[in-house]
Amino acid sequence: MKITKVETIPLRLPEVAARCDGTQDTLVVRVHTDAGLTGVGEVDSSPTVAQAAIEAPMSHSICCGLAELVVGEDPLGIDALWQKMVWGSRYMGRRGVVVHAMSAIDIALWDIAGKAFEKPVWQLMGGAGFESVRAYGSLLFGNTPEETYEKARKAADRGFTAIKFGWDPMGQSEELDLALVRAAREGMGPEADVMIDAGQCFDVKTARRRCRQFEEFNLMWLEEPLHPDDVVGYGELSRSVEMRIAAGEAEESRGAFQALMDVGGIDVVQIDVTRCGGLTEARRIADMARDRKKPVVNHSFKTGINMAASLHMLAGTGNNWVLEYGQEPSPLREELTYETFPVVDGYVKLPQEPGLGVTLNEATVEKYAG
Ligand code: MG
Repeated sequence: MKITKVETIPLRLPEVAARCDGTQDTLVVRVHTDAGLTGVGEVDSSPTVAQAAIEAPMSHSICCGLAELVVGEDPLGIDALWQKMVWGSRYMGRRGVVVHAMSAIDIALWDIAGKAFEKPVWQLMGGAGFESVRAYGSLLFGNTPEETYEKARKAADRGFTAIKFGWDPMGQSEELDLALVRAAREGMGPEADVMIDAGQCFDVKTARRRCRQFEEFNLMWLEEPLHPDDVVGYGELSRSVEMRIAAGEAEESRGAFQALMDVGGIDVVQIDVTRCGGLTEARRIADMARDRKKPVVNHSFKTGINMAASLHMLAGTGNNWVLEYGQEPSPLREELTYETFPVVDGYVKLPQEPGLGVTLNEATVEKYAG
C-alpha cells in the first residue's frame, strides 16, 4: 500500500470573527492510498498556516512540506513516517505549526491502519480495558456570574456530573473571579466535579492567591493559570499550592511536555492530539506522564474527528479519568461527522469501528469549505 495524496480541507464558519471557542474553523486532512483506503485527521491550529506546512514544496532537504515527505510511502510505517516528517522539516519545524500539521497526518495514518487491520485504533495501540470514559462538559464562562450559573444548570440537566468553565471574563477582578467560580459550583451543585480554566490570565502570585481563594469551591483542577511559556512560574506555583494544576493544551512535542512536568511540576497533563504531534507523539507524552504518576486528559475543542482521536488516545494509553467534551454549540463540532458521541449517564463509549470510526458528512464539508 502506498500513500497517493494528502488532501487538505479548510473549513470555516461564516461568523468566525465573532466566536473564539475553538470551533470556528478547522483543517481536515485526508490521506489517500492506492488500496482505496482513506484516513482522516484534523489540526487544531491556524488552518491556513497548517495547510501551508503540509502543501509547501521542498525548499531543501531539511525544509520540506509534509505531504511531499509522505506521498509514495507505506502508510503503515507510522513511526517511520513520523520521524521522516520531523527530520525533513527540521529547519522550519520540530515545534509549532509544523508539528500541529503533522498531527493530522499521523491521526489519518492510524485511521488507515485501523481500517487495514479491521480494528479500532485504541486496540491497535494496545490499550483500553474499559469501555467508556466519564465526560465533563467544557464551556466558556458566561459574561456574568448569573449567565455562568444558568450554563452550569443546563449542563447538569443534560446529565453531566462534571464541568469546566474557562477564559473570559476571568482575570478582570478578584471579585468577579470569585463570583464566577461560585456560580459554576452553585449551578452544578455540591456533588459535581468542577474545573476552572483560567485561560492563561494570571501571574504567579495572583494564581497562588486564587488557588487559596478557590479552595472553598473544591475544584478538581485549576487549568492554565499562567502564560504557557512561564514554565518556571508553573514550578513555583505547583510547589506552593495543594490544588491540582493542569496544563499542556498549548504545547506540542514531548520536550515541551517534559519541561511542563519536570520543571513546571504540573499535576494534570492535557494533550491535544490534533496539535501535539498526533497519536504517535501523544503516546510518548503519556508514557512520560505515567512514569511520573500524572494523569493524562485530552484537550478537545474542535470536531468529531478530534473527539474520536481523543477517545482513542485516552483508551490507547490507558487513561480513563475524564474526557473533555466541548459543549459550546457549533455546526462544525456537531455536524462534521455522522458520529455524535452521545453522553449516557455522564459517560461516552469508546469507538468500536475499524480505524478512528468517523465518517465525514460531505454536506457539512461542502457547506463550510473555504
Ligand atoms: Mg483549556
